Amino acid sequence: MSLRIKLFLGILLFFASTLSFFGYMAYDSAVQSGTARELALLQDLSGSLSRDLHTDIGDHPSEADIERWLTEFNSLHLAILITSGNRQWLSDAARNELPSVIRQQILTSTKSGSASVEQLSFVWDTSPVAGTPYTLSVIHRTNTHEVRTFFKRLELQLILSALIVVWVAIWGTQLIASLLEKLNSQKDKLQHQAMHDALTNLPNRAVMLDRLQVAMHDADRSKSELALLFIDLNRFKEINDTLGHHYGDLLLIEISRRLASGIRKTDTVARLGGDEFAVILGHISDEDATAMAAKLTNMIGQAIEINGNKLFVSGSIGIARYPTHAQDANTLVQYADVAMYAAKRSGIDFIIYDAKLDEYSREKLILSNDLRDAIKLGQLSVYYQPKIDIKTGAVIGGEALLRWKHATLGFISPDRFIPLAEQSGLIRPLTEFVLETAMPDLQKLLREGHDMSFAINLSAVSLQDPELANMLLNAVKKSHIPPSRVVLEITETAVMDKSIQTREVLQALDGLGFHISMDDFGTGHSSLVNLRLLPLQEIKVDRSFVMNMQRNEDDATIVRTIVNLGHSLGKKVVAEGVESEAILQTLTSFGCDIAQGYYFSKPIPFDTFKLWLDANSGAQKTARLPSAEPVIQETSVLLSQLAK
Ligand code: C2E
Ligand code: CA
Ligand code: CA
Repeated sequence: MSLRIKLFLGILLFFASTLSFFGYMAYDSAVQSGTARELALLQDLSGSLSRDLHTDIGDHPSEADIERWLTEFNSLHLAILITSGNRQWLSDAARNELPSVIRQQILTSTKSGSASVEQLSFVWDTSPVAGTPYTLSVIHRTNTHEVRTFFKRLELQLILSALIVVWVAIWGTQLIASLLEKLNSQKDKLQHQAMHDALTNLPNRAVMLDRLQVAMHDADRSKSELALLFIDLNRFKEINDTLGHHYGDLLLIEISRRLASGIRKTDTVARLGGDEFAVILGHISDEDATAMAAKLTNMIGQAIEINGNKLFVSGSIGIARYPTHAQDANTLVQYADVAMYAAKRSGIDFIIYDAKLDEYSREKLILSNDLRDAIKLGQLSVYYQPKIDIKTGAVIGGEALLRWKHATLGFISPDRFIPLAEQSGLIRPLTEFVLETAMPDLQKLLREGHDMSFAINLSAVSLQDPELANMLLNAVKKSHIPPSRVVLEITETAVMDKSIQTREVLQALDGLGFHISMDDFGTGHSSLVNLRLLPLQEIKVDRSFVMNMQRNEDDATIVRTIVNLGHSLGKKVVAEGVESEAILQTLTSFGCDIAQGYYFSKPIPFDTFKLWLDANSGAQKTARLPSAEPVIQETSVLLSQLAK
């Protein structure tokens, strides 16, 4: 039976039974009160008639007196019975209408009573006539026909009530059923919302974990393997930031659709948040899992057309298998994640989990924890590497480079810990540390009369820090340094990532008077338009091209092209990674402006840098470094050689 029918019958039954119950009560009380009222009236009547009789006939009436008295009631159609011993006197109405059975009953009853014969009901009351042997009974007759007409009248009302009951039941059913349906659908919707991602309608992380458990049980039972794929989109953030969230959303929807269409019905694709997805592939072999990963990256990589624009993203996939790699869901998830990050890092489409990857991530975790304490423990320091004007040989400045001496691991390369700091939100304290160290150091040099600037490296993450400008301003103000003495080195990839937003940040910093240098130029394939639009004073050719110039003609061509390009845009060009005199000479022939590299000096602590400066600036340009400084002795080269 459907819910509606059940409801309908329920409501109908409820109203019908309530109606009959209250109907019966009403009828019963009406009848009760009717009979009671009749009896009370009869009592009054019989009492007053017996008093009348006594007044009329006195204490010793004759039978003729009684009969005469009774005849007065003939016209009144009142049934009266007077008895004395065996003798009875009846009014006309009583004689004509009172069946003998009733009369017999009246004679035997002492006071009032009621009885029915055939279709007639009789009610009576008997009163003694005071001072005489007579009693007087007044009888009232009700026709049951009247009762029937009463019910007849009631019938119409009953039918009407029944119709109303049915009507109410129908509409009540509709109302309650639709309310229940609404509630149910709302419950379903909430449940769906709790389990699915609102944008793509894919199952969320919680559901994915649930299904993973089920798939693992399944694999146990059928002695098969399952694969968990973690997918992260590359370049999604860039699209989202440059084209807007609307594009980002449409892109995610399209990717979700592709992923869902690429798997079997029994498999699961879920959105874990942001641009991260997971795919559970049940009953799958090692080869099929990798084939599937290849297929999915291929599907992701196809052009996505949004509002007439063709967008391209790629995916990095990490694969972990059950039970080969892990025996529980949490570990499996962690491993798929580790593999995914490894794939992303290496720029490979997909990587299958390997314990070695995990070691890397464990080490990463330990290192980022240690990095948190590095400042407090005084393990960080800032080294400086000189920048030299190629034409004059003058030291025009130094690049501040962060150093971390780990308690047990020794010196750790910034190439390793800067990305960790970026991922764990530690970039701001690190940059702050560099500024707070480098600015007072620069102040000392300026006071000593060195005409120079310091370069500070800013990470892409810092460019998104709304506090960056304040932090820089505070640092220069504290040390009374004009912002123009500070060069902010920003890598080409950082600028390329978010062209519009970054441009505004750089323009603001430029407006404050800071100089801006594009670092590692040549690695990021940035467009020339970008270069023209950005407020740059300087371009730094990436050291990888400079270092190899002597061996690789292409690299030399690239460096020459960059120098020319920079000059045509009115920028100074710096070559870093100058390791030999030969390189320096080539750079000189290209017309490059500034050089930096091991040929002059490795990055060195401030004290050593100062000694180096004293030895190499002004009239003492030809002086050697103090021999007490082994690091520098090894690597730095006299400026005199440059002058030659
Ligand atoms: P970078 O900004 O390109 O810095 C130049 C790097 O090249 C330095 O490595 C320097 O030691 C190295 N180098 C300089 N001359 C030569 C040379 O002649 N030959 C060779 N082979 N290498 C040379 P370092 O100090 O290890 O820094 C690596 C990177 O770490 C830097 O690259 C920079 O991107 C980042 N970094 C360093 N300090 C900071 C910092 O304070 N903040 C941020 N955000 N990044 C930093
Ligand atoms: Ca740099
Ligand atoms: Ca560089």
